[in-house]
Amino acid sequence: MNDARRSKSKRKSIRTRRKAAMDCKEFMKLVPLWLDGRLDGKRGVKFLEHMENCKDCNEELHIQYLVREGTARLENGDNFNLDRELSDKVALYRKKLHRKHIENVIIYWMEAIAALAIVFILVLVFVKM
Ligand SMILES: [Zn+2]
Repeated sequence: MNDARRSKSKRKSIRTRRKAAMDCKEFMKLVPLWLDGRLDGKRGVKFLEHMENCKDCNEELHIQYLVREGTARLENGDNFNLDRELSDKVALYRKKLHRKHIENVIIYWMEAIAALAIVFILVLVFVKM
C-alpha cells in the first residue's frame, strides 16, 4: 500500500471511531438522564463505554451522583455508602443492557424464522398448484 492510500484509510478509521464513540460533552449531557434511569439502547451502551474509558467523566458522574443522592439522604437522615451504591447501580445497568441485547437478538431470530416459514409455506402452496 502506498503512503497516500495508507494515510487515507487511517483518516477514515479515525473518523469512524469518533462517530462511534461518545465524547465527554455528550456524556455530561446524558448524566442526569442516566441517573433518572431513562437512558437505554445504543446510547446507553456508549454511555457505559465512555464511563469505563474516561476517568474525568467517571469522576464527574460520581460527583453528580453524590450530590444528588447525598442531598436527598441527608434530609432523610439515612446511613449510606454512596460509592458502593453507584457501583451497584452501574453493574445493574450493565446487566439490564445485556438482557435487552439478548432480547433483541432473540426477536431478530424469531422474525427471521417466521419469514422463512412464510416463504416455505408459499413454496409449498406454489408447488401443489
Ligand atoms: Zn469523558
